[in-house]
Amino acid sequence: MNLSDIGTVRSLLEANGFSFKKSLGQNFLINPKVCPAMAKAACGGKTGVLEIGPGIGVLTAELSKKAEKVISVELDRRLEKILPKALSDCRNVEIIYGDIMKMDIRKLISEKLSDCETVAVCANLPYYITSPLLMLLLESRLPIDNITVMVQKEAAERLCARVGTRQAGAVSAAVRYYSEPEILFGVSRESFVPRPKVDSAVIKLKIRKIPPVRVEDEKSFFRLIKSCFAQRRKTLVNTVSNTAGIEKESIKKALSELGIAENIRGEQLGLEELAVLSNLLYKRKD
Ligand code: SAM
Repeated sequence: MNLSDIGTVRSLLEANGFSFKKSLGQNFLINPKVCPAMAKAACGGKTGVLEIGPGIGVLTAELSKKAEKVISVELDRRLEKILPKALSDCRNVEIIYGDIMKMDIRKLISEKLSDCETVAVCANLPYYITSPLLMLLLESRLPIDNITVMVQKEAAERLCARVGTRQAGAVSAAVRYYSEPEILFGVSRESFVPRPKVDSAVIKLKIRKIPPVRVEDEKSFFRLIKSCFAQRRKTLVNTVSNTAGIEKESIKKALSELGIAENIRGEQLGLEELAVLSNLLYKRKD
């Protein structure tokens, strides 16, 4: 079955009385070039793949060709009628119905994919869970090699932005701390049915084994990052004293020790500078 052919998709959906739910981020891929490229980017040797949101299985089928095993989690039980037919040739695929945000993902990986050499997460993500899901995957320090996902273009740019540039936000710092992010390619809105209002991009987050900077207390480091970006137009001294409750004088002293100007804004600091500043500030507070 050609799952990226618009005619096949329409008749499959119509035959099963399926209508798209916007609230579940249901925009299905119909560009035949995208899924093979995503599967190739996600899978190395004997890779076990955790897919989120198979829809009617267009990406799942490509992953099945490249991966050792595919575990695919779908929230919408209406697809239970369609997926077994659409993926009848894919022997190494198991579909699990449920909400990925409520699952014990570590347990899922250990029960279903522990016999694979490496594990990847691959998905055309429902946009409403993009950031919380990526943060959950990264912060949980799961035994995974990479996260290769399609997200909205603006989200891709933000997630992969270099810390210290205008495009970066708190999430960019977290992504770069846990992974090496890369935008692989853009995907136009015409590649989906129904057509969304924005373009997309596929990103790959190669999970780091060791963080790129030395941080003494991760909780404090991430608290500092959040407050640096909380009031972007204010100076770092003002926003951090307002939102993290650290005295202005302590922040000024730490900045001066690092040779950084007092009037710098939080978004101008790189990851290394943020790490050293956090180590200085929180040591001083304790
Ligand atoms: N993979 C298909 C494709 O590329 O055409 C569908 C992608 S569509 C953007 C997102 C899919 O995620 C939908 O099938 C939707 O039902 C499913 N989904 C939405 N929220 C979910 C959740 N919390 N857990 C698991 N699946 C979810």
